Amino acid sequence: MGIQGSGKGTQAKRTASKYGLTHISTGELFREEYQRKTELGMHAHSYWGNGGLVPDDVTIKLLDSRLPKERGAVIEGFPRTIPQAQALDDIVNVGAVMELRLEKEVCIYRMEHRRICLPCNQEYGLARIPKEPEKCDNCHGQLTRREDDTPEKISKRFAKYESETMPVIKFYQPRGIVAKINADQKPDEVFLEVQRWLDQGMTRAYPAIRPDAQR
Ligand code: AMP
Repeated sequence: MGIQGSGKGTQAKRTASKYGLTHISTGELFREEYQRKTELGMHAHSYWGNGGLVPDDVTIKLLDSRLPKERGAVIEGFPRTIPQAQALDDIVNVGAVMELRLEKEVCIYRMEHRRICLPCNQEYGLARIPKEPEKCDNCHGQLTRREDDTPEKISKRFAKYESETMPVIKFYQPRGIVAKINADQKPDEVFLEVQRWLDQGMTRAYPAIRPDAQR
């Protein structure tokens, strides 16, 4: 979890890869569905394209259909509302919650530098600069700004984060599984903090995941 631009994507992918878990990002799934022009993709886009949240029923159904149940996953950008958090409890055992904390001004600066390759979904930014300007390293696609990264949509998304998503962190707090991570550091340093917490904290909260086995 974390406000827009706090580095969720980068940290979630690294965490999944290090701990042998599947990475699932609902935002990425929505963008992929939209690229493929599916009915769900077009419907969801009418919300996220305006800086709003996609309705809970649509989002929960999508997540449920893509989440591997037999092994662990790092879920990025979900749950974003209390009904989503309640629904997730019915689907899996939530073992750990990471909250990346960063000032809005820094998030805005990072988002101004964020680029995406729509064909292959690779993201670029201050922490990952493409070898050739505005071209994707993987597929040579043209890089663009995310259409929801405009100043007006960003402030709408921040407001939604505060009203809908911050209560979700409070929802998990009594379980003692929430780690507050200082995201105002270089990605490697943030990831060190993530690992420190996972290795010490999460293995107690959720012994099914043993990072030692992955090394
Ligand atoms: P993200 O890539 O996580 O920033 O997500 C991009 C956009 O997809 C968000 O601004 C939302 O409009 C939509 N979205 C992603 N995840 C969710 C979710 N869990 N609930 C509702 N909308 C979502």
